[in-house]
Amino acid sequence: MGLIKTEAEIEKMRASGRVLAKVLRVLGESIVPGKTSPKDLDHLAETLIKEAGGTPSFLNYRGFPASACISVNDTVVHGIPTNEPLQEGDIVSLDLGVNLNGWHSDSAWTFPVGVISNEAQRLLNVTRESLFQGIAKARPGARIGDIGATVQKYVESNGYGVVRDLVGHGIGQSLHEEPHSIPNFGIAGKGAVLREGMTICIEPMVNAGTWKVKILKDGWTVKSADQSLSAHFEHTIAITKSGPRILTTELDS
Ligand code: MG
Ligand code: MG
Repeated sequence: MGLIKTEAEIEKMRASGRVLAKVLRVLGESIVPGKTSPKDLDHLAETLIKEAGGTPSFLNYRGFPASACISVNDTVVHGIPTNEPLQEGDIVSLDLGVNLNGWHSDSAWTFPVGVISNEAQRLLNVTRESLFQGIAKARPGARIGDIGATVQKYVESNGYGVVRDLVGHGIGQSLHEEPHSIPNFGIAGKGAVLREGMTICIEPMVNAGTWKVKILKDGWTVKSADQSLSAHFEHTIAITKSGPRILTTELDS
């Protein structure tokens, strides 16, 4: 069972998500190949979130030392921002959370750094599309497995591996809450039933090679086991009577 939110509560999460969407866009636009470092992006994220009246949900969450998870190339998620400038041809995943007036939003986007290879661009396109296909399944009465099965099928039909070790989650007044696991793989028709008023994060992590991952000694950084490129796209959504509503966009769709 997920926690059910009222329409007023969902509007508070929408306000949080609107801030987050703008921050992600501005961060993406600020990347200068060979110059901008992940630490620069992290500082900018913290500044922008605070200017908007929020706080970064990730900072100090379970001890995470930054406002943003910044994951470059074969890093899947939870990269700790470094001082090393991003290079032309890299891909960089920015994963951010905003707490605005006690309500969280969580979203991730993988950006190209300058001109990237066709292969890398295809990975970004497939991962982003798998997110939207998964979101489309998030309707009242559907099951959690419907989301994962859809994401997995699309990703694997494109020859990529969908990460199993990390999953989406419920969100609200906590960054992670019930339902605690929304996998990006699974079996349609299985799992808990989705209900109107649930707010969840769907977040496929897709590797160009194997779905297997390894965690570095820092206890955070997750990399693809075969050093293949990895992409990550995430939205916070609300399940409404008329279907999924994406909360982490700047404009209403
Ligand atoms: Mg996230
Ligand atoms: Mg998340």
